[in-house]
Amino acid sequence: MSTASINSWCLTSLSLSQSTLKTATLRPSISASLNSSPSPPRLIRNEPVFAAPAPIINPTNWRDDMGSKSYEEAIESLKKLLSEKDELKPVAAAKVEQITAQLQTSSTGTKPFDAVERIKDGFIHFKREKYEKNPALYGELAKGQSPKFMVFACSDSRVCPSHVLDFQPGEAFMVRNVANLVPPYDQNKYAGVGAAVEYAVLHLKVSEIVVIGHSCCGGIKGLMSFKFDGPNSTDFIEDWVKIGLPAKAKVTSEHGSLPFEEQCTCCEKEAVNVSLGNLLTYPFVRDGLVKKTLALKGGYYDFVNGSFELWGLEFGLSPPLSV
Ligand SMILES: [Zn+2]
Repeated sequence: MSTASINSWCLTSLSLSQSTLKTATLRPSISASLNSSPSPPRLIRNEPVFAAPAPIINPTNWRDDMGSKSYEEAIESLKKLLSEKDELKPVAAAKVEQITAQLQTSSTGTKPFDAVERIKDGFIHFKREKYEKNPALYGELAKGQSPKFMVFACSDSRVCPSHVLDFQPGEAFMVRNVANLVPPYDQNKYAGVGAAVEYAVLHLKVSEIVVIGHSCCGGIKGLMSFKFDGPNSTDFIEDWVKIGLPAKAKVTSEHGSLPFEEQCTCCEKEAVNVSLGNLLTYPFVRDGLVKKTLALKGGYYDFVNGSFELWGLEFGLSPPLSV
């Protein structure tokens, strides 16, 4: 876990009709609940941030002959204008400064990061390449979801299961958290995870729960590093990764002589087993296992070597799938 880019997800499929998308009413998903408030917080814009796939570049004051002049001609035009309108000189100076800065940036090849542009480009790509090319799939998803999998994966930005396992929309109900941990059943402390497991098992009726660990997990490294013998040094992390303490205990007792990095690798897998064990503390999970409507699996994605391991509740390892 190097970053905490926790995916957001919905309990029901969001159904945006084609016509809705065409008018590009992309609003913050919580704007509806803010409508009743007399003054919505200023940071939440109650208007589309961008339109997709409507015109992206729509410059004003753009004439067809623009861009046809040479550099010398353009400078001459500017000089002429400024000689006639002296009052424009400060404005022109500011604009020239701005252009100079832009050119300096682009000449070094490092464009400043623009979050809105990145999100806009990403959505437009998705809409054109996936959404519009799969009307049958998205038509079905507009009616509802019936995923076969529930997946626990780390929040780490490198291990998105949809990428790694090529899950398509509607295939996997997902929870991502630091170190892909499933806490034991606890209605007070871990209601968020409990709600997701309950919904997936009882309402979506998933047939598989897969907990996927991964290489170089920052959360597991934290679990292996923290002393846990005094006051916490973090607001949340220690308390959360503590869920994996049985895995740490097993690794330190069985592999305590290994270098720290290798112990972490062992713990990344053992923590998956602890999570699988914790899933058994949820009554509806146990029921599903007894009735054989549900199966539990552990997985491990090694992005350094490009391999994936999968094992069952009995923890019998399958041959690694290397690509
Ligand atoms: Zn991780």
